[in-house]
Amino acid sequence: MPLDRISTAAHDGATGPATSDLPPLPDALRQRLADCRSLPSLPAAAARVINIARSPEPRLADYARAIEQDPALTLRLLSMANSAFYSRGGNPVTNGLDAVSRIGLDATLTAALSFGLPRPGSSEALEYEYLCQRAVIAASAAQELAQHLCPHEAGQLFTTALLQDIGILALEAVDGERYTDHIPGIRQHQSLVDAELALYGCDHALVGAWLALSWGVPGPMAAGIIASHGPLIDGDPHCLCLRLSCRIADCWLAADSASAFSILLRQLASLASLDIVMLMTVMQDLQHRLPSLAKLFEITCPPAIDSLHLLAEAKELLFEQNLRMTMRLAEQQRELEALHASHVALDEQHRTDHLTQLANRTWLEKRLDQHFECARAADQPLSVIFIDLDHFKRINDRYGHRFGDEVLIHFAAALNNMVRESDIAGRYGGEEFLVIMPNTRRQYASLLADRIREYLATQPLARADGEALHVTASIGIADLEDGDFDCAASLVDAADQAMYGVKRGGRDGVGHYEEPTNPAS
Ligand code: GH3
Ligand code: MG
Ligand code: MG
Repeated sequence: MPLDRISTAAHDGATGPATSDLPPLPDALRQRLADCRSLPSLPAAAARVINIARSPEPRLADYARAIEQDPALTLRLLSMANSAFYSRGGNPVTNGLDAVSRIGLDATLTAALSFGLPRPGSSEALEYEYLCQRAVIAASAAQELAQHLCPHEAGQLFTTALLQDIGILALEAVDGERYTDHIPGIRQHQSLVDAELALYGCDHALVGAWLALSWGVPGPMAAGIIASHGPLIDGDPHCLCLRLSCRIADCWLAADSASAFSILLRQLASLASLDIVMLMTVMQDLQHRLPSLAKLFEITCPPAIDSLHLLAEAKELLFEQNLRMTMRLAEQQRELEALHASHVALDEQHRTDHLTQLANRTWLEKRLDQHFECARAADQPLSVIFIDLDHFKRINDRYGHRFGDEVLIHFAAALNNMVRESDIAGRYGGEEFLVIMPNTRRQYASLLADRIREYLATQPLARADGEALHVTASIGIADLEDGDFDCAASLVDAADQAMYGVKRGGRDGVGHYEEPTNPAS
């Protein structure tokens, strides 16, 4: 398909995006490409193979027929199928169908497209050997990376990466020395792209994509050629494989490949989707594969890289990464501890009565529920003491609410000092306090109640108008054995009832809960 008619070509859905999905070529360049008669082209058989690949259900037999019409392509496929890489010790294949079924449809397409690759010697100004080596390394790297990042796209990525720099050849065909004189060579890829942008308003990736489309390659592959230039970022594995494959090829062929790889590895260390060990596996497989691939594509095998140096570099990077991770872990640990501390503080606030700093009612009830269940399950004693300060309203009325607060604070502190470690003292309501006494029978609860009364009798809770202020309390005690209590709340109710008994009897005393006697019995 000629280049000037591409933009109006209708593509069916099975072949990927329509050409209008690609960014347009600058008008002047597009015209010159359309007029150019020496653009890289494909033999007719290769074009037929691509057409079959674009059909919704390509069949092996169709491929084979298309290939067998071209002896050169047939030879190439047979030599691919019989290479050490594909034959794996099997019998040599002798016809197109067997060759295609052995190497697979993706590789067949690649073989057909590789006819579009430059042949050494077509021009002095471009380093064709370098371009071919770069294409083969990138293709293989893209495929190896894809095996780890997006396995189902591995075959297509090989071909896309192989063709990604085809635009360089097109620009040279269009502009000859004007192109080669104005670019800083083809070894500095970013500088090359910058020079092309300045010269034409687009780079060789866009030109390559349009050229590939004119050959009839599927739309996604053309889009992939454009995507091959760009930053290395996480998120799109397909794009990452392509872009990284170019960088790997650049480093591989750099004069000082060891330092080039060191710089690349350091750039990659920040990417979440790549890990160093996986990259080393890819590099190793690549090193292993390149000689047979070079043979297939009839190019000089790229020099082997210094894998020992690369491994040492990778080890160091891993060490740094681990160090960073350990530091991050320590930081997270600190954050976690701080969070825990603030949680504990919050929890403490949640449990505590603001005025007296004793347990609040919610916490008292929660703890009593637990002790109630445990005591019943283990058949152990449990007592509670309900304390209500007498005539507290009078104190407020006479000395003021704030004074009353001080009295409550003082009493709470004294109560807290009198209870044992295993007891839980809390403020149940206004001037009402509760003590939970696990594993304690009423006789021992009585001792505490007496001690409280004794304290109140001897120690003033405040001084008012120069006089010591003594407060009394009415105290009720309930023991789990005192009745048939079905829940913790009923035990508290029982102690409360006992306390009210004391109130009714004149206050300032201690009462024990007694199960009401059944009049019938
Ligand atoms: P009784 O001997 O019958 O228990 O008499 P009382 O006055 O102690 O009991 P009543 O239930 O009639 O009143 C309780 C008083 O406790 C009234 C209320 O203002 C006071 N009170 C409740 N909470 C607080 C508080 O946080 N601070 C102060 N200062 N007083 C409070
Ligand atoms: Mg009260
Ligand atoms: Mg009271």
